[in-house]
Amino acid sequence: MAQQQADTKILIVGAGPTGLTAALELARRGVTPRIIDRKDAPTPLSKAVGISPHSLDVLEPSGISERLLDKGLRIRHVHFSEEGRELGVVYISSLPHRFNFLLSLPQRDTETIMVGRLAELGVGVEWRSSLYGLKESAEGVDARIATPDGQEEARFDLVFGADGVDSAVRKALGIEFQGYTHKREWSIADAEIADWPYEPLSAQAFLHRNGDVGFIIPIEEGRFRAVSNTDDALARIPGNYRVTELLRTDRFHIPARQAQRYQTNRIFLGGDAAHAHSPVGARGMNLGIEDSASFARRFFDGTLAGYTAERWPIGKRWIALSERILRTAQTTSPTAQTFRNLAFSVIGRFPALQRPFIERIAGLKE
Ligand SMILES: Cc1cc2nc3c(=O)[nH]c(=O)nc-3n(C[C@H](O)[C@H](O)[C@H](O)COP(=O)(O)OP(=O)(O)OC[C@H]3O[C@@H](n4cnc5c(N)ncnc54)[C@H](O)[C@@H]3O)c2cc1C
Repeated sequence: MAQQQADTKILIVGAGPTGLTAALELARRGVTPRIIDRKDAPTPLSKAVGISPHSLDVLEPSGISERLLDKGLRIRHVHFSEEGRELGVVYISSLPHRFNFLLSLPQRDTETIMVGRLAELGVGVEWRSSLYGLKESAEGVDARIATPDGQEEARFDLVFGADGVDSAVRKALGIEFQGYTHKREWSIADAEIADWPYEPLSAQAFLHRNGDVGFIIPIEEGRFRAVSNTDDALARIPGNYRVTELLRTDRFHIPARQAQRYQTNRIFLGGDAAHAHSPVGARGMNLGIEDSASFARRFFDGTLAGYTAERWPIGKRWIALSERILRTAQTTSPTAQTFRNLAFSVIGRFPALQRPFIERIAGLKE
């Protein structure tokens, strides 16, 4: 690495999975960034739970993947059914990859592991530190940061905005977050469940003729995450099981939005700051991890100018596909349901036909 690269002052705004991955990818190659977050600590919430095979590839050199693999659950199958009748099974296990599963782990554990490893590499996250102003010039980027000790203005060579959907970095650049937010309210529930009647270590998708959907995935031993487009996620998960403890419920609206561009000369956007879409398909956090890997690789290659050209079309294609999946899952048209169910029962029997779709979920093909 050239001395000039080692001396580059980089600010990462946001210590979610995207910012933490960017910091890890720089630090493991010898560049120490500053990373700030307005929160006190890693998220206490379960948030994103699916880690893709490609993210595990990306996070392996920094020593994260083995720790994630130790804690997470390996989900190899997704069962789809309509009104109690199984339509088909998506065999993630058929992937010709050493990680032929989706790793399920609450985001709070993923972030905690990343923060711990980053500290071992000599980078401490600066918590309770909020970016509130950015000014870019030919010489650098002047950032205004509110810290627990007061306000600070510092100059950086590069800034990576990984500060989520309401990104202060994106707003400071005046970059539009184009798209829309769906009106329908979704619900989420994390629960401890006993007497689980379905295949263990598999995800289940329940489709209903009136357009309601319910998804459920194990997230820890005896704990599950249910998501639905109705106001009670668990009510859309049929079966004889017992909810022994309701850990958390929440409501949300699904966005389909993308930043118009992901960069200027010295400032870059990644993760939810750059794109936000439905959690169906578990790509939200994983796309952010991939953005960060690309940012770090391009920094060392000297090809940062091509970051948007690489990452923007990938975000665009995923948003389009996740919108198609949503429409197909929620359709109330009997004709569309007949075609959908027929397609599922054919594809569900032949893992080879599923391969292109699974490769996209896995992050192995864009
Ligand atoms: C309830 C819920 C459930 C979800 N479920 C799923 C799921 O099942 N599957 C899935 O793929 N995705 C899911 N997501 C989305 C997923 O959590 C995000 O895609 C993922 O967190 C994106 O990571 P990120 O690092 O880009 O952004 P974030 O995780 O949002 O991190 C951004 C960080 O920036 C910090 N920050 C913000 N502004 C500033 C500032 N001005 N200065 C300093 N720091 C700042 C924030 O404190 C935060 O820590 C869910 C999200 C929520 C809220």
